[in-house]
Amino acid sequence: MKIVASLLDLRAARLSLDGTTGFVPTMGYLHDGHLSLVARAKAENQHVVVSIFVNPTQFGANEDLSKYPRDLERDLDLLRPLGVDVVWTPTAEMMYPSGYQTWVEVEALSQPLEGAMRPAHFRGVATVVAKLFNAVQPTKAYFGQKDAQQAAVIRRMVADLNFPLEVVVCPIARAAGGLALSSRNKYLDESQRKGATVLFRSLSAARDLYESGERNAETLRLKMKEVLAGEALAQTQYVSCADYDSLQELDFVQGKALLSMAVYFGNTRLIDNAILGG
Ligand code: AMP
Repeated sequence: MKIVASLLDLRAARLSLDGTTGFVPTMGYLHDGHLSLVARAKAENQHVVVSIFVNPTQFGANEDLSKYPRDLERDLDLLRPLGVDVVWTPTAEMMYPSGYQTWVEVEALSQPLEGAMRPAHFRGVATVVAKLFNAVQPTKAYFGQKDAQQAAVIRRMVADLNFPLEVVVCPIARAAGGLALSSRNKYLDESQRKGATVLFRSLSAARDLYESGERNAETLRLKMKEVLAGEALAQTQYVSCADYDSLQELDFVQGKALLSMAVYFGNTRLIDNAILGG
């Protein structure tokens, strides 16, 4: 497993990989969710490249960039047994040198949901992923359904900018009890961690309603809110029942829909989602 930091070293390492190359972009502090993406990339390609980069431009001024968890040695130990060819760990100075001024904006898809709560977040995501794609030139790139809107934004960007690669979206890896794995779960104390299973429970309750025939989106949103309200430690920021493709809020569910939510436990903001009709 080659570990490279500079763009020149990444390019040299990439040129030495002959054949299909799967790419998994991450911000590090890896967990089984990330590793499931790496395993899928390994299964579907001759080579695998993983990037570890906490991208400053996707964090808002009031967000947790400086205290985002980092542990490179631990991440490398987790990746070594998985047969990863190259790990790229660029620095912020390499990605955004002085004078940097070029941005990728996926307009409408970046506006609702997470974008409404985190202005400029998806501009930062789309820009860094475009830069990572240009450098790594993967055959396929792997993202998690955990960040559903991110996956939608990246898919759109790849189509709009003609990136010659396939985007693969992988299922959400969950802990026992249903809590979606996230690097931010480390901030939860024991009672918050228990309480945080409420996200999955509320998504499951809405899905049950849907499966019993309910198609009124507001009824599904109210069900999610009701279950979330039953957990004293949870502070709901938003719940949504949106069209899967446009991410616009629905009145009635027809075709594929996305249930999603953001919920605070103390200062820790958790997101989760489920697909209906897919
Ligand atoms: P991050 O390091 O948080 O930027 O995540 C890197 C990639 O891993 C993104 O494509 C995420 O959607 C994906 N990911 C994060 N958590 C999970 C999870 N619990 N299950 C599946 N994929 C995940």
